[in-house]
Amino acid sequence: MGIVATYDVVIVGGSLAGITCAQALRTEGFDGTILIVGDERYLPYNRPPLSKQVLLNKWQIDQTALISREKGAELNIEFVLGRAATGLDLASKALLVGRESYHFSKLIIATGVSPRNLVVQGDVDDVLLLRTVDDVLAIKERLGSSKRIAMVGAGVLGCEMTSAFAQMGHQVQLIERLAGPQMPNTGGHISQKIHAELVNNGINTHYGVAVRSISRVTDGIIVELDNSSNILVDMVVASIGSVPNTQWLPSDLIDTTNGVLCDSTGLVVPDVYAIGDVARWQLRSEETARRIENQTSAINQALAVAKFIVSGTASPTTEPFFWSEIFEKKILLSGILDPDPGSVRILNGDFSGDKFIIATEVNGSYTGVLSWNMPREFREARKLLKGEVNG
Ligand SMILES: Cc1cc2nc3c(=O)[nH]c(=O)nc-3n(C[C@H](O)[C@H](O)[C@H](O)COP(=O)(O)OP(=O)(O)OC[C@H]3O[C@@H](n4cnc5c(N)ncnc54)[C@H](O)[C@@H]3O)c2cc1C
Repeated sequence: MGIVATYDVVIVGGSLAGITCAQALRTEGFDGTILIVGDERYLPYNRPPLSKQVLLNKWQIDQTALISREKGAELNIEFVLGRAATGLDLASKALLVGRESYHFSKLIIATGVSPRNLVVQGDVDDVLLLRTVDDVLAIKERLGSSKRIAMVGAGVLGCEMTSAFAQMGHQVQLIERLAGPQMPNTGGHISQKIHAELVNNGINTHYGVAVRSISRVTDGIIVELDNSSNILVDMVVASIGSVPNTQWLPSDLIDTTNGVLCDSTGLVVPDVYAIGDVARWQLRSEETARRIENQTSAINQALAVAKFIVSGTASPTTEPFFWSEIFEKKILLSGILDPDPGSVRILNGDFSGDKFIIATEVNGSYTGVLSWNMPREFREARKLLKGEVNG
């Protein structure tokens, strides 16, 4: 057995949710010992710029940092980096990291998600994914020798990367199994708008088809689609969803079905909490617990758990909030848009134009507000979500 140490709080996952919770514990007045165990070799950093400013060479990697080593020391937050948690012994309250064991009074699970791999025949090692700093560095390295790119997956990340690649002068073929671009929680209402942006910017779209195989050939990589067409490219990038990082948890004692199930205070089992992308959090406004993969939810859950640990006070659940930038169109969404076209209300601008704000209204309440290129007006419009509709 290696090191055995004891901490008041052990946080697993050294990223946005984990570091936000550690800092918030200090802000709340917690003076116990805090350890963050993270399997990446970097201090916590921000992921959203990776598919935007970093990919577009507008930011250096160090601009994504969430905390410096000095600030961590000042807050008395200890780190074990580049090491993955391998197990959890709930009976003895011990986190296992290989042969080492860290005992805790409270444990916070903040291990996020990993990108889903493309499972097809052929040379899949040639497929690049984007989640980490190392991933974006690998993509940038390949871009220099890659004029033609196949982007598999037209979700938010796939569309952001498509937009970044095209803005840098690459030819992009966008492949999506579903009928068009998919943005989370948008009810499908802006898929056509995004499609129009893609096409107007020279992207070749292939919808309703899946990749069958990938083969390296002398002049590039052939992506074979399941409609039997072939696309010749220099580089393949995939963004086809994510898988919660729960493999290290005891699934007989903790419900890890599509993330770690927790209540509306983040509690999983006594003294164990889950936050961020990995957490299937119970939103009070909804009947079923759900995972939400965005920054604001990760931050709000981290703040809520820190407050609950220190003072026992539960925080109100906030609406999910999400933003994206596709060909310089700023998309902002608060809440969840209902898919029923009859529920859509135009709050501002012209839906057929370049600037608008829409909402969906169900049983007299707004469920979500989305802004397309109207960030200032959005700030006011999203307040509608807090109360009932007043006619
Ligand atoms: C390229 C990109 C762009 C994005 N853009 C946006 C955006 O525009 N807006 C938005 O709201 N959100 C965006 N997101 C999502 C946002 O980054 C996430 O919601 C946020 O990172 C969640 O933070 P987290 O700490 O819960 O999880 P993560 O950031 O996934 O961090 C989890 C950490 O835990 C580590 N880990 C996993 N398993 C273990 C283990 N066993 N032991 C130790 N450590 C482990 C992981 O390696 C990782 O470092 C984007 C994400 C990506 C990848």
